[in-house]
Amino acid sequence: MKSSEVVILGGGAAGCMTAYYLAKEGVKATVVEREAIGSHASGFAFGGLSFFSGAGIPGPVFPLAREAYHLHEALFEELKEMTDIDTFYRKGMNIKLAFDEDQANEIDEEVVWQEREGLGSRIVDWDEVRSIEPRINQEAIKFRLIGESAEVDAYRLVIALMQAAEKMGAILRHGNVVGIKRQGGRPSALVFERGEQMPCDTVVVALGPWSGQASSWLDFPVPITPLKGQILRLEMDGPPLASWLSFAHSYCGTKADGLTWCGTTEEEAGFDDTTNTAGLNVVMNDAVKMVPDLADAKLALQTACLRPMSSDQLPIIGPVPGWEGVYLATGGGRKGVLLASVMGRVMADLILRGETPVDISPLLPDRFAPATTS
Ligand SMILES: Cc1cc2nc3c(=O)[nH]c(=O)nc-3n(C[C@H](O)[C@H](O)[C@H](O)COP(=O)(O)OP(=O)(O)OC[C@H]3O[C@@H](n4cnc5c(N)ncnc54)[C@H](O)[C@@H]3O)c2cc1C
Repeated sequence: MKSSEVVILGGGAAGCMTAYYLAKEGVKATVVEREAIGSHASGFAFGGLSFFSGAGIPGPVFPLAREAYHLHEALFEELKEMTDIDTFYRKGMNIKLAFDEDQANEIDEEVVWQEREGLGSRIVDWDEVRSIEPRINQEAIKFRLIGESAEVDAYRLVIALMQAAEKMGAILRHGNVVGIKRQGGRPSALVFERGEQMPCDTVVVALGPWSGQASSWLDFPVPITPLKGQILRLEMDGPPLASWLSFAHSYCGTKADGLTWCGTTEEEAGFDDTTNTAGLNVVMNDAVKMVPDLADAKLALQTACLRPMSSDQLPIIGPVPGWEGVYLATGGGRKGVLLASVMGRVMADLILRGETPVDISPLLPDRFAPATTS
């Protein structure tokens, strides 16, 4: 395989992971990015690496999420050694709070399967919670503790991945892709905005929420839409929060920058990724509900970015039917930083060996193939 003919569309977490795992095996791919590495969700996400909740968990995404978690653990040291960039990976505890009966029932159900999977998940009482983090709102009626979780600085991660991949020969090219040319069932060239072309024979589509663009290029449905989320970074008096906290769709935790990051909204707003006061209020209310002291915190930064959501909420990973040498690595949704590691690993397996030990069968693009009429 001629390395230079493997191209990866998109310089987010999914694309940079793919470049990194390919480079580790000697394939010097080209990443094509129209803005900058990590300039969208992969640079602004909270960076939580919890693998025990989310769409398809428990279910078909769980084995991948667990594998992704372990890959991240190894990446931290590898990337530090290769690039000298500290991605601020660290392990910690995660406490989920319930404020009403529905949320409490949800916790009870979660703990059953999490215990079965040996995740060390358990219900804890207020006395134990207080000994960990006394600023948690004691009006919560139930608490679930998981000792095994982790986080990373998402922006540093993608920068380190691309830098490491480049050190091993990968190339970063700036450009806005508008099409893929085809010859004999394989891709033969990328087409850029101004008509320029770049030869290729293998393409990984990792365009995040913009992956739907590829539907017309590939004549195959890539049902991805953006789901906006806003995050507040707050300056809080006192020591960092001792645990990541969550309830329903909201969470907070003190990151390596010393700021307490609180999220998040889920907004159907097309490709609008601007912040607004409504988002600030939603996130702030939930943050204060978890930790009342946050009411006195100072707003340092408010950000917004777009999750790539597939029509069935699950990632889309694997070869595109009807093509040789075209793959999708997208639809990471709310877990796209976590899942990017396994997506990159799987892409390298498929491109180099034509198969992967990871069970991606429920996540293959062919689930979206139009039904054929007899
Ligand atoms: C508020 C919020 C919090 C989150 N928190 C977490 C979290 O804690 N943990 C977690 O695991 N996930 C989290 N996520 C989800 C995660 O951020 C995303 O799923 C992930 O970053 C998606 O990565 P990606 O590489 O698929 O897409 P992106 O990061 O969007 O990258 C796609 C890239 O493609 C480029 N591109 C688009 N079109 C073209 C084109 N035509 N030509 C060239 N380049 C193009 C874009 O410029 C972009 O850089 C969060 C998301 C949000 C919104």
